[in-house]
Amino acid sequence: MEAIVIGAGFAGLAAALRLAKAGLKVTVLEQLAGPGGKAIGWEGVPTGPTLLTLPEVPQAIFQALGASPPPFQPVSPLTRYAWPDGRTFAPECDLEATLAQLSPLEARRYRHLLALARRLYQDAQATFLLGPPPDAACLLRYALAAGWRAYPFHSLARLVEAGPYLTPFFLRFATYLGANPYRAPAVLHNIAWVELGLGVYHLPGGMQALAQALYRLAQARGVRFVFGEKVLRLEARAGRVRAVATEGGWQRADLFVSAADRHFTLGWLGWPLPRETLGLSGFALLLHLAEPVPLGHYVYFSSDYPAEWRQIAQGRWPVEPTLYLHTDGAVAFLLVNAPPLPASAPVEAYARHLLARLAACHPLPIAAWRALSPWDYSQTAYRGALYGRAPHGLLGALRPGWGLGRLANLVQVGGTVHPGGGVPLALRSGWQGAAWLLARLGVEE
Ligand SMILES: Cc1cc2nc3c(=O)[nH]c(=O)nc-3n(C[C@H](O)[C@H](O)[C@H](O)COP(=O)(O)OP(=O)(O)OC[C@H]3O[C@@H](n4cnc5c(N)ncnc54)[C@H](O)[C@@H]3O)c2cc1C
Repeated sequence: MEAIVIGAGFAGLAAALRLAKAGLKVTVLEQLAGPGGKAIGWEGVPTGPTLLTLPEVPQAIFQALGASPPPFQPVSPLTRYAWPDGRTFAPECDLEATLAQLSPLEARRYRHLLALARRLYQDAQATFLLGPPPDAACLLRYALAAGWRAYPFHSLARLVEAGPYLTPFFLRFATYLGANPYRAPAVLHNIAWVELGLGVYHLPGGMQALAQALYRLAQARGVRFVFGEKVLRLEARAGRVRAVATEGGWQRADLFVSAADRHFTLGWLGWPLPRETLGLSGFALLLHLAEPVPLGHYVYFSSDYPAEWRQIAQGRWPVEPTLYLHTDGAVAFLLVNAPPLPASAPVEAYARHLLARLAACHPLPIAAWRALSPWDYSQTAYRGALYGRAPHGLLGALRPGWGLGRLANLVQVGGTVHPGGGVPLALRSGWQGAAWLLARLGVEE
């Protein structure tokens, strides 16, 4: 059987590997010049992900293919946080070392909120992370067993109220799924456990190196990659996708995986786009440094965190954004949250504004820089919304499933669908989504 995978991001790479392992002839169509998707990188500088959580997900994929996983290294401290009044905080997985940096009242709150995050994560794991998209029966089982104690009618902001420093600290994790933390449901607090409890990992060469390792593995398994190939349409008839149209012409296959943004897939099918609030976009600066600096992850909070989010909710680029900075040798990556398109201001002026703010918080010997605005991210994400639909409201944690209508031979995977965004979840989506499609078509692995 022949398969076409659209997109060579983490989800597409994982799906292609799973299909090739099952003996299919696989072609990956990718509009960009190389693999990695949001993690493609630019001259050695990250363009997207910088932190790896849940390293067991990529490790399991390498092991299933009989290959050695890359050397993931635990990061400590996890991230260095700073507030405008000079307060700093550098949490580690070592709880006692973390608590020692806090006042007795803060330490009690931290311990309590960490335990809560752990319980929410453990309760949600089976239904929302590990298996296929949950059906109604599965959701009901979760609701009866654990949903009632996941603070279903609380907002995240109410749940993590813990003083002027720890509140924004805990709120910020919801941005990892594209949420405005003030509109996120309480259950998204589980993300804090993934980073603070399970830890953060680094890979020499960054996440681009992980994408390259998966790409090489796929090539070795006979997967054919066509880069610079933009998909324009999917032709569907009688409950099956028949062919995909690219700028180079029509290509046929027996089964199809869309590992691109779900909105794009709906557009290729000519189906209406859902009317839903989109999640966050980002504005990044890619920096080349004149001298190498140590590996580090930093967050510089704004002086008024709620005001920043009010501006984003109004569709504006925040005047005084919280900065996320990643430094790694001769390169650095600066990221701030931004609303999805069409909201925008002049890119160059905003980039210079961010450079000035960075210089005030964390001076760096910048030799060259380049901005990536939501317009750039809109190439891989519909309207630049990095995680698709905003995970807001009661059912915010529930991502769209893998099926599209009644199309039997198409699966939608990646960071905009189940189990969600982020490198490990996109990998899991591609790896398991491909197996789900094979099982649905009765193809034995
Ligand atoms: C700035 C930023 C920071 C992030 N930080 C982290 C982090 O620290 N840790 C973490 O785990 N996650 C992070 N993420 C999230 C993570 O990068 C993504 O969730 C993940 O990479 C998504 O992978 P994917 O394969 O689903 O999608 P993508 O990487 O978007 O891959 C989809 C692919 O489909 C291709 N495609 C789209 N349209 C077409 C078309 N018409 N024709 C052909 N190909 C097409 C795209 O070019 C792309 O290569 C970050 C993301 C961003 C943008």
